Amino acid sequence: MRKQYLHLSAYCCEVCNGPVIAGMVAVRENEISKETGITPVGAICLSCAHRQSGPAESGRARHLLPIEWEPVGASGAGHLTTAYTETLNRAELH
Ligand SMILES: [Zn+2]
Repeated sequence: MRKQYLHLSAYCCEVCNGPVIAGMVAVRENEISKETGITPVGAICLSCAHRQSGPAESGRARHLLPIEWEPVGASGAGHLTTAYTETLNRAELH
């Protein structure tokens, strides 16, 4: 059965040394298949809100256990696509 998983990792913020939490989602088609469609969903420092997309060269990320996650793209991604299309349409008018 197809399931989506949320992976969280934590690493040190290069600005304030606070904890950056980074998330990505991946899909597993069934229990034994490999995860596919790995998509980063953002990273942010909990202390200073710096958006750091990966650990500093000297640092390392600590990975939390994957969490089963309901697909979030259904309404959210559709909405984004709609907004993007509207922007394109508006651009064409000028
Ligand atoms: Zn920070």
